[in-house]
Amino acid sequence: MSIKRVGVIGGGQLAWMMASAAKKLDIELCVQTPNKDDPAVAIAQNTIFAPVDDAAATATLATRCDVVTFENEFVNLAALAPLAEQGVCFRPSLQALSPLLDKYHQRCYLQQIGLPVPKFATLEDISDAWQFPLVLKSRRHGYDGQGTFIVKNAEALQHLASTGKETFLIEEFVPFEKELAIIAARSPNGEIVTYPVVETQQKNQVCHSVIAPADIGTEVAAQIGEIADKLLSSLQAVGIFGIELFLKSDRQVLVNEVAPRTHNSGHFTLDACECSQFEQHLRAICDLPLGNTALRAPAAVMVNLLGYEEANSDYLVKRQQLAALPQANIYWYDKKASRPGRKLGHVTVLLASKKDAEKLAQRVESIWYA
Ligand code: ADP
Repeated sequence: MSIKRVGVIGGGQLAWMMASAAKKLDIELCVQTPNKDDPAVAIAQNTIFAPVDDAAATATLATRCDVVTFENEFVNLAALAPLAEQGVCFRPSLQALSPLLDKYHQRCYLQQIGLPVPKFATLEDISDAWQFPLVLKSRRHGYDGQGTFIVKNAEALQHLASTGKETFLIEEFVPFEKELAIIAARSPNGEIVTYPVVETQQKNQVCHSVIAPADIGTEVAAQIGEIADKLLSSLQAVGIFGIELFLKSDRQVLVNEVAPRTHNSGHFTLDACECSQFEQHLRAICDLPLGNTALRAPAAVMVNLLGYEEANSDYLVKRQQLAALPQANIYWYDKKASRPGRKLGHVTVLLASKKDAEKLAQRVESIWYA
């Protein structure tokens, strides 16, 4: 059966960026999202205005499409399970999502299938053997560094743990040399493709820029490709998955986090690859042949345009300045309100050489944050 109608739970920028690929593949998008101002409402053929964890709304969504996919990991699996039993086709499946939604469960799963992860424990299991600094993370609903805290001493740990309403995971602080990421896709028949490994650059736990490809050598790149392969096969995943990793100075690679969806570290693919991560996701979940993941420029840099104030501006002048940079492409998510740290858009610049990447990222940031 050819799949022509895709339902997306979530209507943020990730769903919004599926639009041009959907058009190209002649696929209709229907989104479930709470607000009329959410980015994907403007591009969807059909919108169900409801919170993303409203399973009754998802039941309606499912009547309007052939396959249901996810734009974020804030998924209520228990509420969706009856729909899957009634035959709703979720891609990735609820089984594939289930070990990933809670960061502690995710770490346990990765360890169980033999992938390298930082040392971790639940907060309750912490012992005196743990050394500071360590990292405290909300087990669920953390994103863009919210819910991740680098903790320097016992007082700070106690304070954070007592103020939080959530349950936490702790892990060793990894003194990484670089942060890396890989985007991988798996089709229903088990074919897996990966994009080039990228370097991601974080400030205060939030991704500011991504450089493709990462300067890591073929051995580390191959090792990361194998990690992606093993993970997606073990999960029997269908669709795009983003995998974030740490590279240590001894060349050891550790998996930091897996996102069962399109990912910020893959936005460069919109311009730098023949088949973007968004098109690839649609191809995978609609059981179409997977597309070419090779870079079509020697290098690319992607810079997030993060909010730096509370405002309702469209930042038109700054966007025009950024658009004037050679080989630059701007994606503006058209969010109505800006606040510090909020992702408002991103810029990708294609480069003739990787050596110019850092300088370009700084140039974009000096315009944006001026
Ligand atoms: P989120 O889901 O909010 O993106 P992450 O777990 O990816 O949270 O953490 C955000 C950032 O915090 C990482 O990209 C990294 O810079 C830093 N970080 C997270 N875990 C560790 C760790 N164990 N050691 C050192 N830095 C870490």
